[in-house]
Amino acid sequence: MATTPALSEDLLAKYEPVIGLEVHVQLLTASKIFCSCSTRFGDPPNTNVCPVCLGLPGALPVLNRKAVEFAVLAAMALECRINEVSIFARKNYFYPDLPKGYQISQYDKPLAEFGFIDIDLNESKTNVSKKKIGITRLHLEEDAGKSLHEGFADAASKTAIDLNRTGVPLAEIVSEPDMRSPEEAYEYLTRLKEIILYTGVSDCNMEEGSLRCDANISVRPRGQKEFGTKTEVKNVNSFRFVKQALEYEIERHIEVLESGGKITQESRLYNAHEGKTYGMRSKEQAHDYRYFPEPDLLPLVVDEKWQAAIRAGLPELPEARRQRMMKEYGITAGDAHTLTLTRALADQFESAARTAKNPKRVANLVQSELLGRLKEKGLELEQSPISMAGVTASADLVESGAISGKMLKDLYDLCFERNHDFPAVYEEQGRPEQSRDTSALEKLADELIAANPKQVEQYRAGKKTMIAFFVGQVMKASKGQANPQLVNEVLTKRLEGN
Ligand SMILES: [Zn+2]
Repeated sequence: MATTPALSEDLLAKYEPVIGLEVHVQLLTASKIFCSCSTRFGDPPNTNVCPVCLGLPGALPVLNRKAVEFAVLAAMALECRINEVSIFARKNYFYPDLPKGYQISQYDKPLAEFGFIDIDLNESKTNVSKKKIGITRLHLEEDAGKSLHEGFADAASKTAIDLNRTGVPLAEIVSEPDMRSPEEAYEYLTRLKEIILYTGVSDCNMEEGSLRCDANISVRPRGQKEFGTKTEVKNVNSFRFVKQALEYEIERHIEVLESGGKITQESRLYNAHEGKTYGMRSKEQAHDYRYFPEPDLLPLVVDEKWQAAIRAGLPELPEARRQRMMKEYGITAGDAHTLTLTRALADQFESAARTAKNPKRVANLVQSELLGRLKEKGLELEQSPISMAGVTASADLVESGAISGKMLKDLYDLCFERNHDFPAVYEEQGRPEQSRDTSALEKLADELIAANPKQVEQYRAGKKTMIAFFVGQVMKASKGQANPQLVNEVLTKRLEGN
């Protein structure tokens, strides 16, 4: 939990936070960006290394074509303009996990610029508006190695270095300072991750470090144009912690300013356990890195033809997909949101919905019966005992009136108990069918008809839509257990007077 100094609402309202995010995404290439070493995570330390990524004298980098294509694809998904010519540059600094003494990155001529992500602002429960968050740039760079402080014999007194990660390709995505609250930052990161996952260029696994986030934050009195002095919270490893770290920093900045102090521009680390940030070092300015063009690499040229070939691989992106699915299947924004959480879920839903008698019912079942049970058992969709084809089969059975909603729930419970798919359990249970005994329904229908002469008269005078009123009443009386189709049949018969 974040322990914040708990400033008053009035004081918080006096200042406006300004937030920009830098996200590093590891690209899913099989080999590193400038050599053929494997990028596999979890291999024994220092086994995936060669003269190039160890930075030995005389070794020359050769650019990985796939890394370029992945970065361009991500940039296109983020609506960036791709620069036909971009330049690799050396970013010079000393650190034990950086054997060359510089990182190959891009500086004043990055691969892509001027993108954006639309985020949802939930101003209230009913009022959702969109806000554009600018993306300044997306550039390619190599990762550094890793310092290890634990997990080996003399870890108490020594630090070890693992250079397997050195030279793994990264796309760095830098946003404009367009966010005005920790919630907006959280929403931006969520949308960004979703888009990157849809493109398939990264697995965005935060635990393995394939998505890392640095957050720049400053505050200014509301109405002031100039930005305040910013601090940078480095390497926070979950979106929730980013939000907490920002909340903490906002209050810390305001406290310092209110007590007449000055914010020092510096990098800080977030301790999630304590819910606090700590200063690490004063922030380098760009000139401290003495960037210069990498002499061992030619300018990177991604011409129109290559761009077009990459663009052809761009999948339908989450927001566009939600809009289309709402239209195509008659589902709500909420349904669409849940069903597009991952590309796999959306793909499975759509293949199921296309063959289902009623796609809306499939959407409802996924939301109300499947995802809830998965969450309860701590399972991912890929581990679900009920496949999407199983959901469709069950939805069709309810749709045709063969089984009731209650029976479906029981069958789903059995599926999860036995870890069998729906069609299998349905067979195992001897293809149960709900009773088509209509006597109870007929009795209910007769009672309703007797009690509502006015509505009956309207129906018989030609206002056929009045049937919905009666169906609703019967469903209510049966607490939703009745089969709507059967109710409809019985009522129509009775109202038609035969
Ligand atoms: Zn290598």
